[in-house]
Amino acid sequence: MDAIQVHDKTFVPYISAADIAEKIKEIASQISKDYEGKRPLFIAVLNGSFIFASDLFRRLNIDAEISFIKLASYKGTTSTGNVITAIGLEESLHQRHVILLEDIIDTGKTLHEFLPQLQHQGPASIEVAALLTKPDALKFPVHPKYSGFEIPNKFVVGYGLDYDGLGRNIPGIYQLG
Ligand code: 5GP
Ligand code: MG
Repeated sequence: MDAIQVHDKTFVPYISAADIAEKIKEIASQISKDYEGKRPLFIAVLNGSFIFASDLFRRLNIDAEISFIKLASYKGTTSTGNVITAIGLEESLHQRHVILLEDIIDTGKTLHEFLPQLQHQGPASIEVAALLTKPDALKFPVHPKYSGFEIPNKFVVGYGLDYDGLGRNIPGIYQLG
């Protein structure tokens, strides 16, 4: 794989499409074991996780449902900072086994603020599956039960992840050079 250009920046190959596919196969088979008979509800966080979600979901060999949400962050009216709301979540999570799908966990802030809102609906369980995590960037306690690759604290694109709108269609994952 060669270096690529997205907007004004150069990115170098980091994880090949084949390695991603292999990892997703492993995660899907683990989830299929863990959730047999539980009919889990996957919630994929758009936009970044759409390719991860579709590849993982197709690899499951159990009954499962999937729904897609967007997270919008509003400035709170108090000094407590931003309020995160989910757009598009129509299913009731009550007594469901929920697995949240994220492309990447960076500081953990987004999920740390959002997960309590899901808990509020009284699901039977909630776990997180993230394709990528950046342990050195983590500032909030978010620990995905299923995690693909731990990567250094460098910006990446490809496989659903964008740099300013572009790069999502690149099959592998590339790192800022
Ligand atoms: P957090 O709240 O965990 O700091 O941020 C998570 C979100 O930031 C991810 O869902 C993703 O949208 C974005 N993000 C964090 N790191 C990267 C990265 O290296 N590349 C891209 N494209 N997005 C990132
Ligand atoms: Mg995201």
